[in-house]
Amino acid sequence: MRRALFPGSFDPLTLGHFDIIKRGVHLFDEIVIAIGINAEKKYMFHLDERKQFIEEAFKDQPKVIITTYEGMTVDFCKKVKAGFILRGLRNPADFEFEKAIAHTNRKLSKIETVFLLTAANTSHISSSIVRDVIRNKGNYKLLVPDSVRVK
Ligand code: ADP
Repeated sequence: MRRALFPGSFDPLTLGHFDIIKRGVHLFDEIVIAIGINAEKKYMFHLDERKQFIEEAFKDQPKVIITTYEGMTVDFCKKVKAGFILRGLRNPADFEFEKAIAHTNRKLSKIETVFLLTAANTSHISSSIVRDVIRNKGNYKLLVPDSVRVK
């Protein structure tokens, strides 16, 4: 079974994440979306909301599993028996950042990181931009799946 972990903060899920997951489903038997919990990070959306947005977006996709984790990503991969980490790449800055992490993870384990290049129409989207649009009362709906709703 080819199982990949797609780790991230998903604060909130964006059309960029959605695109990577939808395409990843064709490459792997199962994708475990793992929402990282970092006690030092301040989030806009509560963990339950972030999880709910993803669950609703993929409710018809049995190959997608949603979970949360704390600690090292490679340790969690071992726990859930994922041999791959899936990550999206938007630009050279993502590449440099991801390269260092992937090399480190490879040193710590046998887990391979697989990168998918972002779709051209979602390459400008990041959760932090979505949060800015929300804070400034802009039309965030253009950047996220329908399941993401601000109360
Ligand atoms: P993190 O806090 O780990 O950066 P994110 O939730 O921001 O978590 O991102 C999780 C993953 O989704 C990362 O691999 C990131 O590169 C990817 N990603 C985020 N936005 C996009 C996008 N617009 N297109 C493709 N991949 C994306």
